[in-house]
Amino acid sequence: MKIHTDLITAGNLIDATRAAGMRAVEIEYTSHGSRQRARSFNVKLTGSSTRRPNPGTRPGGHYELEGQYAATWDEWGMFIQALYEIDPEAIIGQYPNKAVFEQVTRERFVSLTAPYQHGGGGHKWIVRTPGVQECKFCEASFSWMELHMINRELKEAKKTPVTA
Ligand SMILES: [Zn+2]
Repeated sequence: MKIHTDLITAGNLIDATRAAGMRAVEIEYTSHGSRQRARSFNVKLTGSSTRRPNPGTRPGGHYELEGQYAATWDEWGMFIQALYEIDPEAIIGQYPNKAVFEQVTRERFVSLTAPYQHGGGGHKWIVRTPGVQECKFCEASFSWMELHMINRELKEAKKTPVTA
């Protein structure tokens, strides 16, 4: 997962994994220059999921790690929230800023702490409303359609020359 930021440091990444309560964490990062922000990181996480990492829709987006357990959807979410508390304007994975992250995850991670995460195999997603996935067993909800629309609008706004 890519992070573009003016404020987040490597130390903050480590702290954020602790905030997410991860017991078994591997975090790899490389720091690059960034055209969009002062610097960028590429982060991979492992966590407490009983599932093997597989590509899927989760806050961290797609990732691949072999022979390790995935961070849960909630661990990714708590990790990202902790980083947004430091830099609300960071671009983190598929999220353009803190406000959008909180909007499309229905503010789940504003107050979620590790002991209350939906651990084990993680959320059992069902779709009741098109474009929104909800967990059958807890309150987790993720509006990927809203995120898609917002990102598309941001992209269009960048492309379109401003005319007075
Ligand atoms: Zn759940």
